[in-house]
Amino acid sequence: MMVKTNNIEKSYNGLRVLKGVNLEIEVGQIVSIVGASGAGKSTLLHILGTLDSPDNGELWINNIDVTKLSQKKIAHFRNQNIGFVFQFHHLLPEFNAIENVLIPAMIGNKNGQNKTTKAKEILDYLGLIDRLDHKPSELSGGEQQRVAIARALINEPKVIFADEPTGNLDSENSNEILNLFFDLSNSFNQTFVIVTHNKDLANKADVILTINDGVIENDY
Ligand code: ADP
Repeated sequence: MMVKTNNIEKSYNGLRVLKGVNLEIEVGQIVSIVGASGAGKSTLLHILGTLDSPDNGELWINNIDVTKLSQKKIAHFRNQNIGFVFQFHHLLPEFNAIENVLIPAMIGNKNGQNKTTKAKEILDYLGLIDRLDHKPSELSGGEQQRVAIARALINEPKVIFADEPTGNLDSENSNEILNLFFDLSNSFNQTFVIVTHNKDLANKADVILTINDGVIENDY
């Protein structure tokens, strides 16, 4: 089991957004999270990604109960196990593509390992080998998002959480990103959890989870 929750609850100022979320995500699955605007999709994704903590409930990632870890241990765990892709790529404008990809590797670098070769391999796989020295402003929207995906992959995460990864892209680039996720799932058994309004992407997922009234509709 890659991700498992037990009765996750979250409120903001008395507003109960998540009312007991239970889900199980297997290794290598592509899971989409859908639901009306304001249903709590991003809230859930942030909690699953350890960027936010639940008020109640338990969360296991790769069989570790992360709700029991200290803040410091969570930060390390996140760096080593989790990759993120957001709607807006959040690349650092002053750094070129390969430098942006290397940032999580430098943060997580304990053994002074040089991950430049690995970064090049990933960027090559994503069709960006000719763009290594380009800054984000010199890349198209689709290329920027592929650099962000390369950055998510550099530490070989167990699971990648994506929040509207195609939300800012035209349909051609959206399809490219969608195909890329499926390639990575098929070739490397990469697990993805994706919040999306993109119906193609949502419907092609191995599992579709719908949030409604603070819980997952699909019964486990
Ligand atoms: P979705 O991603 O499904 O559109 P969100 O998870 O972003 O929904 O938001 C769910 C609800 O929680 C919304 O009503 C939103 O206003 C509220 N909410 C989300 N984050 C916060 C926050 N940090 N503080 C207060 N309210 C929040």
